[in-house]
Amino acid sequence: MAKVYLTGAGPGDIELLTLKAFKVIKEADVIIYDRLANPDILEMAKDGCEFVYVGKEDGKHIIPQDDINEVIYQNSLKYENVVRLKGGDPFVFGRGGEEAQYLHERSIKFEIIPGITSAISAPAYAGIPVTHRGVAVSFRVVTGHESPDKKVSQIPWENFKTNDTIVFLMGLHNLQKISKKLMEIGKPADYPCAVISKGTTKNQLVVVGTLGDIVEKAKDVPTPALIVVGEVVKLREQLKWFEGDA
Ligand code: SAH
Repeated sequence: MAKVYLTGAGPGDIELLTLKAFKVIKEADVIIYDRLANPDILEMAKDGCEFVYVGKEDGKHIIPQDDINEVIYQNSLKYENVVRLKGGDPFVFGRGGEEAQYLHERSIKFEIIPGITSAISAPAYAGIPVTHRGVAVSFRVVTGHESPDKKVSQIPWENFKTNDTIVFLMGLHNLQKISKKLMEIGKPADYPCAVISKGTTKNQLVVVGTLGDIVEKAKDVPTPALIVVGEVVKLREQLKWFEGDA
Protein backbone atom coordinates (compact mmCIF):
# COMPACT_ATOMS: atom_id res chain seq x y z
CA MET A 1 0.00 0.00 0.00
CA ALA A 2 1.50 3.32 -1.08
CA LYS A 3 2.10 6.12 1.33
CA VAL A 4 2.81 9.76 0.68
CA TYR A 5 5.05 11.58 3.14
CA LEU A 6 4.32 15.30 3.11
CA THR A 7 7.72 16.28 4.37
CA GLY A 8 9.25 19.54 5.56
CA ALA A 9 12.73 20.10 4.15
CA GLY A 10 13.64 22.85 6.61
CA PRO A 11 14.62 26.39 5.66
CA GLY A 12 17.86 25.88 3.76
CA ASP A 13 20.64 24.68 6.06
CA ILE A 14 20.60 21.01 5.19
CA GLU A 15 21.36 20.00 8.78
CA LEU A 16 18.03 21.44 9.89
CA LEU A 17 16.29 18.46 8.31
CA THR A 18 14.54 16.24 10.89
CA LEU A 19 15.67 12.65 11.46
CA LYS A 20 12.24 11.49 10.38
CA ALA A 21 12.53 13.37 7.09
CA PHE A 22 16.01 11.92 6.58
CA LYS A 23 14.65 8.42 7.09
CA VAL A 24 11.82 8.70 4.57
CA ILE A 25 14.04 10.45 2.02
CA LYS A 26 16.51 7.55 2.19
CA GLU A 27 13.71 5.07 1.52
CA ALA A 28 11.83 7.09 -1.10
CA ASP A 29 11.02 5.65 -4.54
CA VAL A 30 10.18 9.13 -5.79
CA ILE A 31 10.73 12.63 -4.39
CA ILE A 32 8.47 15.41 -5.61
CA TYR A 33 10.17 18.64 -4.59
CA ASP A 34 9.82 22.41 -4.61
CA ARG A 35 12.11 25.28 -5.45
CA LEU A 36 12.57 26.10 -1.75
CA ALA A 37 13.67 22.62 -0.71
CA ASN A 38 17.48 22.54 -0.71
CA PRO A 39 18.33 20.28 -3.69
CA ASP A 40 21.39 18.90 -1.84
CA ILE A 41 18.87 16.86 0.16
CA LEU A 42 18.18 14.78 -2.94
CA GLU A 43 21.68 13.33 -2.66
CA MET A 44 20.51 11.42 0.41
CA ALA A 45 18.09 9.36 -1.70
CA LYS A 46 18.78 5.77 -2.67
CA ASP A 47 20.00 4.80 -6.14
CA GLY A 48 17.19 4.72 -8.64
CA CYS A 49 14.97 7.17 -6.77
CA GLU A 50 13.03 9.31 -9.22
CA PHE A 51 13.04 13.10 -8.80
CA VAL A 52 10.14 15.26 -9.91
CA TYR A 53 10.49 19.06 -9.75
CA VAL A 54 7.27 21.02 -9.26
CA GLY A 55 8.84 24.37 -8.37
CA LYS A 56 7.02 27.57 -7.96
CA GLU A 57 8.22 31.12 -7.44
CA ASP A 58 7.06 33.23 -4.49
CA GLY A 59 3.32 32.93 -4.80
CA LYS A 60 3.49 32.51 -8.59
CA HIS A 61 2.73 28.93 -9.43
CA ILE A 62 4.59 27.79 -12.47
CA ILE A 63 2.71 24.54 -12.13
CA PRO A 64 -0.85 25.03 -10.84
CA GLN A 65 -1.55 23.47 -7.45
CA ASP A 66 -4.21 21.17 -8.94
CA ASP A 67 -1.59 19.71 -11.26
CA ILE A 68 0.85 19.25 -8.37
CA ASN A 69 -1.86 17.42 -6.42
CA GLU A 70 -2.42 15.17 -9.39
CA VAL A 71 1.33 14.49 -9.84
CA ILE A 72 1.52 13.38 -6.21
CA TYR A 73 -1.55 11.19 -6.61
CA GLN A 74 -0.32 9.58 -9.83
CA ASN A 75 3.02 8.78 -8.21
CA SER A 76 1.24 7.13 -5.30
CA LEU A 77 -0.38 4.75 -7.81
CA LYS A 78 3.03 3.91 -9.20
CA TYR A 79 5.29 3.78 -6.13
CA GLU A 80 5.20 2.58 -2.51
CA ASN A 81 7.16 5.37 -0.84
CA VAL A 82 6.36 8.82 -2.16
CA VAL A 83 8.05 11.82 -0.58
CA ARG A 84 6.57 15.23 -1.20
CA LEU A 85 9.40 17.52 -0.08
CA LYS A 86 8.54 21.12 0.69
CA GLY A 87 10.60 24.05 1.94
CA GLY A 88 10.34 24.80 5.65
CA ASP A 89 7.21 23.26 7.15
CA PRO A 90 4.57 21.75 4.86
CA PHE A 91 1.68 23.41 6.70
CA VAL A 92 3.13 26.92 6.96
CA PHE A 93 2.07 28.53 3.69
CA GLY A 94 3.13 25.31 2.05
CA ARG A 95 -0.28 24.17 0.80
CA GLY A 96 0.46 20.82 2.42
CA GLY A 97 -3.09 20.81 3.79
CA GLU A 98 -4.53 20.96 0.29
CA GLU A 99 -2.29 18.15 -0.89
CA ALA A 100 -3.33 16.02 2.09
CA GLN A 101 -7.02 16.72 1.37
CA TYR A 102 -6.58 15.63 -2.22
CA LEU A 103 -5.02 12.36 -1.07
CA HIS A 104 -7.66 11.84 1.61
CA GLU A 105 -10.40 12.19 -1.01
CA ARG A 106 -8.70 9.45 -3.04
CA SER A 107 -8.10 7.16 -0.03
CA ILE A 108 -4.32 7.40 -0.31
CA LYS A 109 -2.46 7.06 2.98
CA PHE A 110 -0.27 9.93 3.99
CA GLU A 111 1.91 11.16 6.82
CA ILE A 112 2.84 14.71 7.70
CA ILE A 113 6.46 15.26 8.67
CA PRO A 114 6.76 18.78 10.07
CA GLY A 115 9.80 20.83 9.16
CA ILE A 116 11.58 23.76 10.68
CA THR A 117 9.84 26.77 9.23
CA SER A 118 11.79 29.71 7.85
CA ALA A 119 9.43 31.96 9.84
CA ILE A 120 11.29 31.11 13.04
CA SER A 121 14.64 29.75 11.91
CA ALA A 122 15.68 32.55 9.56
CA PRO A 123 15.18 35.09 12.37
CA ALA A 124 17.05 32.72 14.74
CA TYR A 125 20.03 32.57 12.37
CA ALA A 126 19.88 36.36 12.19
CA GLY A 127 20.03 36.59 16.00
CA ILE A 128 16.38 37.66 16.29
CA PRO A 129 14.22 35.67 18.75
CA VAL A 130 10.57 35.87 17.68
CA THR A 131 9.52 36.12 21.35
CA HIS A 132 11.54 37.59 24.19
CA ARG A 133 10.56 38.18 27.79
CA GLY A 134 9.57 41.78 28.28
CA VAL A 135 9.75 42.54 24.54
CA ALA A 136 7.25 40.34 22.67
CA VAL A 137 4.83 37.85 24.21
CA SER A 138 3.66 36.43 20.90
CA PHE A 139 4.39 36.38 17.20
CA ARG A 140 2.30 36.17 14.07
CA VAL A 141 3.23 34.62 10.77
CA VAL A 142 1.35 36.47 8.05
CA THR A 143 1.14 36.17 4.29
CA GLY A 144 2.76 39.12 2.58
CA HIS A 145 1.45 37.94 -0.74
CA GLU A 146 -1.86 39.76 -0.40
CA SER A 147 -1.45 43.42 -1.27
CA PRO A 148 -2.16 45.60 1.80
CA ASP A 149 -4.12 48.06 -0.35
CA LYS A 150 -6.62 45.38 -1.34
CA LYS A 151 -10.13 46.70 -0.61
CA VAL A 152 -11.48 43.64 1.15
CA SER A 153 -8.55 42.27 3.07
CA GLN A 154 -8.34 38.91 4.80
CA ILE A 155 -5.58 40.30 7.01
CA PRO A 156 -6.71 41.94 10.26
CA TRP A 157 -4.32 44.90 10.01
CA GLU A 158 -5.99 46.70 12.93
CA ASN A 159 -4.89 43.84 15.21
CA PHE A 160 -1.25 44.55 14.43
CA LYS A 161 -1.16 47.63 16.66
CA THR A 162 0.29 45.58 19.53
CA ASN A 163 4.00 45.08 20.07
CA ASP A 164 3.92 41.44 19.06
CA THR A 165 6.40 40.29 16.47
CA ILE A 166 5.08 40.02 12.92
CA VAL A 167 6.80 37.80 10.37
CA PHE A 168 5.67 38.27 6.77
CA LEU A 169 6.38 35.46 4.33
CA MET A 170 6.11 35.94 0.55
CA GLY A 171 6.07 39.69 1.12
CA LEU A 172 9.25 41.14 -0.35
CA HIS A 173 7.49 42.49 -3.44
CA ASN A 174 4.93 44.17 -1.17
CA LEU A 175 7.48 45.56 1.30
CA GLN A 176 6.67 49.16 0.49
CA LYS A 177 2.91 48.66 0.90
CA ILE A 178 3.35 46.58 4.07
CA SER A 179 5.56 49.15 5.79
CA LYS A 180 3.23 51.97 4.72
CA LYS A 181 0.19 50.09 6.03
CA LEU A 182 1.86 49.44 9.40
CA MET A 183 2.64 53.13 9.74
CA GLU A 184 -0.95 54.00 8.78
CA ILE A 185 -2.30 51.89 11.65
CA GLY A 186 -0.06 53.80 14.05
CA LYS A 187 3.40 52.26 14.20
CA PRO A 188 6.11 54.91 14.22
CA ALA A 189 8.50 55.32 11.29
CA ASP A 190 11.42 54.33 13.53
CA TYR A 191 9.78 51.00 14.44
CA PRO A 192 12.35 48.17 14.02
CA CYS A 193 12.15 45.95 10.99
CA ALA A 194 14.45 43.48 9.23
CA VAL A 195 14.54 41.66 5.94
CA ILE A 196 16.23 38.25 5.93
CA SER A 197 17.16 36.72 2.61
CA LYS A 198 18.24 33.11 2.07
CA GLY A 199 18.09 32.58 5.82
CA THR A 200 20.13 29.74 7.38
CA THR A 201 22.24 29.33 4.22
CA LYS A 202 25.77 30.53 3.58
CA ASN A 203 24.23 33.27 1.43
CA GLN A 204 22.08 34.60 4.24
CA LEU A 205 21.71 38.35 4.04
CA VAL A 206 20.17 40.39 6.85
CA VAL A 207 19.12 44.00 6.37
CA VAL A 208 18.12 45.83 9.54
CA GLY A 209 16.19 49.08 9.41
CA THR A 210 12.95 50.73 10.39
CA LEU A 211 9.51 50.89 8.83
CA GLY A 212 10.57 54.26 7.47
CA ASP A 213 13.78 53.21 5.74
CA ILE A 214 13.58 49.45 5.12
CA VAL A 215 12.26 49.81 1.56
CA GLU A 216 15.29 51.78 0.49
CA LYS A 217 17.73 49.60 2.45
CA ALA A 218 16.34 46.27 1.20
CA LYS A 219 15.73 47.23 -2.40
CA ASP A 220 18.29 44.84 -3.90
CA VAL A 221 17.70 41.87 -1.62
CA PRO A 222 17.21 38.53 -3.40
CA THR A 223 14.40 36.06 -2.69
CA PRO A 224 13.46 33.99 -0.81
CA ALA A 225 13.22 36.61 1.88
CA LEU A 226 10.99 37.33 4.84
CA ILE A 227 10.21 40.46 6.82
CA VAL A 228 10.38 40.65 10.62
CA VAL A 229 8.69 43.59 12.31
CA GLY A 230 9.05 44.24 16.04
CA GLU A 231 11.24 45.40 18.89
CA VAL A 232 12.87 41.95 18.94
CA VAL A 233 14.86 43.01 15.85
CA LYS A 234 17.04 45.16 18.12
CA LEU A 235 18.24 42.06 19.98
CA ARG A 236 20.32 41.17 16.94
CA GLU A 237 22.92 43.65 18.14
CA GLN A 238 23.68 41.23 20.99
CA LEU A 239 22.55 37.92 19.53
CA LYS A 240 24.04 37.94 16.04
CA TRP A 241 26.01 34.70 15.82
CA PHE A 242 25.79 33.23 12.33
CA GLU A 243 28.66 34.06 10.04
CA GLY A 244 26.72 33.27 6.86
CA ASP A 245 25.83 36.94 6.69
CA ALA A 246 26.79 38.25 3.28
N1 SAH B 1 6.65 26.41 4.11
C1 SAH B 1 7.67 27.44 4.09
C2 SAH B 1 7.15 28.78 3.62
C3 SAH B 1 6.61 28.74 2.20
S1 SAH B 1 6.11 30.34 1.65
C4 SAH B 1 8.29 27.54 5.49
O1 SAH B 1 7.74 26.98 6.45
O2 SAH B 1 9.36 28.15 5.62
C5 SAH B 1 7.58 30.90 0.89
C6 SAH B 1 8.17 32.06 1.66
O3 SAH B 1 8.90 31.60 2.78
C7 SAH B 1 9.15 32.91 0.89
O4 SAH B 1 8.50 33.85 0.08
C8 SAH B 1 9.92 33.57 2.01
O5 SAH B 1 9.19 34.64 2.55
C9 SAH B 1 9.96 32.48 3.05
N2 SAH B 1 11.23 31.72 3.04
C10 SAH B 1 11.39 30.42 2.75
N3 SAH B 1 12.67 30.04 2.90
C11 SAH B 1 13.33 31.15 3.32
C12 SAH B 1 14.69 31.42 3.69
N4 SAH B 1 15.63 30.47 3.65
N5 SAH B 1 15.00 32.67 4.08
C13 SAH B 1 14.07 33.66 4.14
N6 SAH B 1 12.77 33.46 3.81
C14 SAH B 1 12.41 32.23 3.41
